[in-house]
Amino acid sequence: MHKALLALFVLVTLATPAAQDGPADLIFHNAKIYTSDEAMPRAEAVAVRGDRIAAVGSSADILKLKGSATKVVDARGAAILPGLHDAHGHFMGLGASLQVLRLRGTASWEQIVGMVRRRAASARPGEWIQGRSWDQNDWPVKEFPTHEMLTNAAPNNPVYLTRVDGHAAMVNKAALDAAGLTKDTKDPEGGRIIRDPQGNPTGVLVDQAMRLVSRNIPSVSQAQLEEQILLADAEARKLGLTMVHDAGANTEVVEAYKRLIDSGKLQTRLYVMLRGPMAMLQPHFDNGPITNYGNHHLAVRAVKISADGALGSRGAALLEPYSDEPGNSGLLVNPPEEVYAQTLAASKAGFQMCVHAIGDRANRMVMDTFERVQKEVPGSRNLRMRNEHSQILDAADIPRFAKLNVIASMQATHATSDLPWAPARLGDARVEEGGYVWQKLLKSGAIIANGSDFPVEEPNPMLGLYASITRQDPSGKPPNGWQPDQRLSREETLRSFTLHAAFAAHAEKDLGSLTPGKLADLVVLSKDVMAVAPKEILSTTVTTTVIGGKVVYEAKSGS
Ligand SMILES: [Zn+2]
Repeated sequence: MHKALLALFVLVTLATPAAQDGPADLIFHNAKIYTSDEAMPRAEAVAVRGDRIAAVGSSADILKLKGSATKVVDARGAAILPGLHDAHGHFMGLGASLQVLRLRGTASWEQIVGMVRRRAASARPGEWIQGRSWDQNDWPVKEFPTHEMLTNAAPNNPVYLTRVDGHAAMVNKAALDAAGLTKDTKDPEGGRIIRDPQGNPTGVLVDQAMRLVSRNIPSVSQAQLEEQILLADAEARKLGLTMVHDAGANTEVVEAYKRLIDSGKLQTRLYVMLRGPMAMLQPHFDNGPITNYGNHHLAVRAVKISADGALGSRGAALLEPYSDEPGNSGLLVNPPEEVYAQTLAASKAGFQMCVHAIGDRANRMVMDTFERVQKEVPGSRNLRMRNEHSQILDAADIPRFAKLNVIASMQATHATSDLPWAPARLGDARVEEGGYVWQKLLKSGAIIANGSDFPVEEPNPMLGLYASITRQDPSGKPPNGWQPDQRLSREETLRSFTLHAAFAAHAEKDLGSLTPGKLADLVVLSKDVMAVAPKEILSTTVTTTVIGGKVVYEAKSGS
């Protein structure tokens, strides 16, 4: 084509976006649209054709794409964002958490005992009672409890209650007995059985010791599994999460996802990190990565393993001992050789490696492993290896993210949940240097993918937006934010929950921004989170969620 003609053609295309392809199926107009696309960050209207975005622009221009069958929605000035991503959540865990006792925010141990007593009253003898997300830091007595009250509350039912970080469990006598745990039981590698002065288990189990009891819990049936998945799916759509990076699924769960996608029931897009022993991973490696299943509803091209535990239970592996427990510097929950072996095998098979690292020792080990494997497997740098959490970093490791093309997969609400006690665990100097250092990472050139780690934290992305922007807890503490120089701007926050999360999933060509040609995933909000006072973000709700051009959630009017 002649150059001048070509230029004219481009101009016309821009002025009447994609009009030559026929009318749109769906139009939102009269909106405040934040696109996450730097080429056109703001717009008033968006047109969808099929499952893709046809055009983004002014209301007047976009309404030109209206045909007789077009569904037209007047947003009446509401804010529209690209569909939000959670780059690190536990999808099954979310579903399961909607089925078990929810202990988050309980005011005392006695309150939990009461909840268990009421559940036990209606449970069959021997039936397991499960709960999650207790945190002794929320109680007047901030020590780990012992099992006696729990044992009295449910004498005939084993009870298994996990801590908010998932790295400790509180159990009763029936559960200890079911596992055969006594004073003679040795601590397993990478775990700890908390004991009284006589050496008897108190009921608190840390990290790998949790398995001693949890392995006795009957596994869920296929029907229960699918119910959990669909509970999580409904919750995600309601919260405006159009894509979730599932941080640890086994083959059985992947097969369930496929079945539910095939039958059209599961609508949230899932980016799966496989988690399991090499024997489970190997068939996936042999078959190669699945980059697009069910029209971009599922990708299976990543592997997750944990390097260490969590900070709250002092299981995070630190270079120097805990400031509030000299002599303890945390635990590596998997030997470095295993992390290396999985990273090597995954990289050779073209899978992205995602390693959980909280403490600075674990983070150092992970970056060393990534560096070593990148030298050994040509091209593996392009797999965008991921450091899940990247919480406590030694200063020397911060520039290694950009250098090694490693994604910092972080969860803003972890910082604001941990801020009451993290300085006690770490001391001010370590927190200042490398604790939740979002801006230091961005300035070093790293990509941050944001998320929540649900159900460890609440899945509601509004809490993550608020925490990213303020570094305050929901009550507004501390007044200026915790290390306010590490806050993200609203634009940086939006990108971390959209385009950069999509990048972390190798999906930025199809997802992550409202750009013509990309899949039409978007959310309409009750308030403009990019403009309102930060506190208002907390009460912002999703009024409509669209995935692939289809409305998958609509708030009932008035709610
Ligand atoms: Zn996690």
